[in-house]
Amino acid sequence: MDSLLNKRVWVAGHRGLVGKALCRRLERENCTILTTTRHELNLLNQHDVEAWLLHEKPDAVFIAAAKVGGIWANNTKPAEFLYENMMIAGNIIHAAHLAKVSKLMFLGSTCVYPKMAAQPITETALLTGALEPTNEWYAIAKIAGIKMCQAYRRQYGDDFISVMPTNLYGTHDNFDLESSHVIPALMRKAHEAKMSGAKAMTVWGSGKPLREFLHVDDLADACVFVFQRYSGEEIVNIGTGQDVSIGDLATMIARDVVGYTGALDFDSSKPDGTPRKVSDVSRLKALGWKPSIDLLTGLRATYAWFQENYDTARAVA
Ligand code: GDP
Repeated sequence: MDSLLNKRVWVAGHRGLVGKALCRRLERENCTILTTTRHELNLLNQHDVEAWLLHEKPDAVFIAAAKVGGIWANNTKPAEFLYENMMIAGNIIHAAHLAKVSKLMFLGSTCVYPKMAAQPITETALLTGALEPTNEWYAIAKIAGIKMCQAYRRQYGDDFISVMPTNLYGTHDNFDLESSHVIPALMRKAHEAKMSGAKAMTVWGSGKPLREFLHVDDLADACVFVFQRYSGEEIVNIGTGQDVSIGDLATMIARDVVGYTGALDFDSSKPDGTPRKVSDVSRLKALGWKPSIDLLTGLRATYAWFQENYDTARAVA
């Protein structure tokens, strides 16, 4: 599919961080964006998903729906992470096949790669080793979705592709301290420490793990780009190819973004997770895409949004 012009495009999961950004980006393609709320369509119900897709017959589908969460949520709700993500992938991909959807993009995650994968992580590392135990449940479900896209392409010739976004951040993120990822958590902690005049704020783990972060508007741009230019069984990483330590990230958020000058206390009772995660983005680069929002600019924009939406942004997404 080389153009989305006048196409009917379903963004499954349009209320999440990624889905919202995809809808914003797709508006520039002059397509008809279809969305469904949780109330209108339960993605965990196979019958309902099939009925909806057979009735609406979209030309294109983006699967941005997922049960997501940071290291703590993943570790404490294994059943929900495994079941919900498997059902979302299974239901939508199979029903998209039945409804003869012309093109589908499944969004995975770089956490599908083995814990000890060589860094930067290439797409070929998939299924070459054991997963990071703290997010194994989510990863197994996402790997099933990737494999479904590959299997339906092989057996039925469906043009279903998968991309692996790195750690994301941006407006509309989840700022709940227990279930959020590191950026919104640290932003909120720094903000609240500044407001209350606290002497210190807590950073989980040792501060040594290395992570790569991509602004969600860059991700949405990359997805729309890849959707229109790539067709194949191989998965495609979406990231910046650059990483930062959690300690440096915490300092950047506290000092350069929020303006909090107190101490950073590292809480070693909390898990570090995987020691380093940065993706090899050669495949994406070869297709002709690169990010345009640097970390500091993206963090500042996210913090501005958080301050404007402080009352609502703290609720669990
Ligand atoms: P991960 O990339 O799957 O490990 O997910 P996270 O974004 O939740 O965590 C990334 C790293 O940031 C881990 O090493 C965490 O221990 C660390 N971290 C430091 N402070 C926090 C915090 O307040 N919340 C979260 N979620 N992670 C934190």
